[in-house]
Amino acid sequence: MFRWQQAEGKRHALDEPFAPRPGETFTALCGAEVTVARSDVPQLGGHWFDPTCTDCADEWLRREGRARSSDGRCLA
Ligand SMILES: [Zn+2]
Repeated sequence: MFRWQQAEGKRHALDEPFAPRPGETFTALCGAEVTVARSDVPQLGGHWFDPTCTDCADEWLRREGRARSSDGRCLA
């Protein structure tokens, strides 16, 4: 499951069932390894003011498109 997570100055996307917590490092869809700060978590009073990582957005669309096309393929 893809989700957005702000970390280290950008809003990255990741493929994880749960959102990372402050202090945790995750590998974004764009390949960057970033660590989440407390100010990156809206539930803890943070704000997502950072710009979206365009590489993550592209990768998200690419993976979604691939998933959709394989779902629609008839393998029988
Ligand atoms: Zn990214």
